[in-house]
Amino acid sequence: MKYSKLFTKTLKNAPADEVSKNAQLLIRAGFVHKEMAGVYVYLPLGLRVLDNIKQIIREEMNAVGGQEVQMTVLQPKDIFEKTDRWDDAKVDNWFKTKLANGTELGMGLTHEEPIVDMLKDYMTSYRDLPLSVYQIQGKFRNELRAKSGLLRGREFVMKDMYSFARSQAEHEEIYERVAEAYHRVYGRLGIGDITYRTYADGGIFTKRFSDEFQMLSEVGEDTVFIDESAGLGVNQEIIDDARLSATNINKDNLKEFRAIEVGNIFPLESKYTDALGVYYTDETGNQQPIIAGCYGIGVSRLMGALAEHFADDKGLVWPESVAPFRVYLACIGSDDTVLTEADRLYQELEGSGVEVLYDDRDVRPGEKFADADLIGVPHRVVISPKTIEQGKLEYKIRQSGEAELISAKELLQKLGV
Ligand code: ATP
Ligand code: MG
Repeated sequence: MKYSKLFTKTLKNAPADEVSKNAQLLIRAGFVHKEMAGVYVYLPLGLRVLDNIKQIIREEMNAVGGQEVQMTVLQPKDIFEKTDRWDDAKVDNWFKTKLANGTELGMGLTHEEPIVDMLKDYMTSYRDLPLSVYQIQGKFRNELRAKSGLLRGREFVMKDMYSFARSQAEHEEIYERVAEAYHRVYGRLGIGDITYRTYADGGIFTKRFSDEFQMLSEVGEDTVFIDESAGLGVNQEIIDDARLSATNINKDNLKEFRAIEVGNIFPLESKYTDALGVYYTDETGNQQPIIAGCYGIGVSRLMGALAEHFADDKGLVWPESVAPFRVYLACIGSDDTVLTEADRLYQELEGSGVEVLYDDRDVRPGEKFADADLIGVPHRVVISPKTIEQGKLEYKIRQSGEAELISAKELLQKLGV
């Protein structure tokens, strides 16, 4: 991609009304555009990052047998009445709307009810189970406060998976497999070392715990207590609870941290399937309850959390796995030899499958360097009259700031192509 053609613009200053670092950085660097509080547009750079995060999640969900679907945003009221989640007194962050004839509809804030209800048509026998389906979709929640940029949106992207099993034992096996897949997701995103599985409240439907995945961060809204040696923790909301004794957590090892909830998985037992009258028929022809689980990951929240964590005083520092491009290539000056070599290298890298943001703009070198740092592409390559003279190029790693003069061939080796 040539920078001169890219639909984006870096800004000197973030909008005055943005208080969170992730939104300030992502707006300044031209990744997102603020439509209104808690509602953001993904510009081409931002969409590339979001898509990279989605793809990692998709691969890991597929690897544990998840099948991707796409549910609808518009949702009927009756199924939420059956589980008692329609009433605003029960669920206070609905966006609701109406058909022209007055029929009330909800806008997807979660999808247990529609997924379970749909099962009726496809899942009747023990042979159809177990099953895991997931989607990656926009969710709508009328959040009271939306001041944390992508961390708390009113319209945001979530991955939600739902599993259905024939027994509690079968459910638990799936549940643990998904929990492991979650750890792989956070590992691939570069936050594996600061993201902990923590016991949390199971919600209104169960006495069991849910499991949150909490990324340690000063800007997090949650307080968690972590046993670093066990790699486990517990949310503050249940720390004083007698239920802590039901876990394998040793209270003496716990340290307090602020954290961002980047995922949450729940055992649903047969609460939703029972409420919506969905059962399976076993080998002997008897109706049995279906044991469900649900598994959320905050996809856009993760993008914000990564922007908070992978940044320095110059801008963003994306991990390779989600960076919008792998290489930022800048040509300095307008010498023919420079332009020819930069063009050639751009073609060669793109031809080898390396995604390059080629800064071909006619602007001062300082502006290119500042933008490269702000945008945070992992590898920076500069071709200038000085480097050409030596038959080399300047190669710099965004994260470490280390720079060296190397040949084009050495660059390809470093990039593994
Ligand atoms: P929170 O406690 O932060 O409001 P939640 O427990 O209501 O979140 P879930 O329903 O468990 O959220 O949703 C699954 C995941 O979606 C969460 O772990 C979080 O990462 C993400 N998420 C939830 N609400 C938002 C939001 N308003 N903006 C962005 N991401 C969100
Ligand atoms: Mg949660």
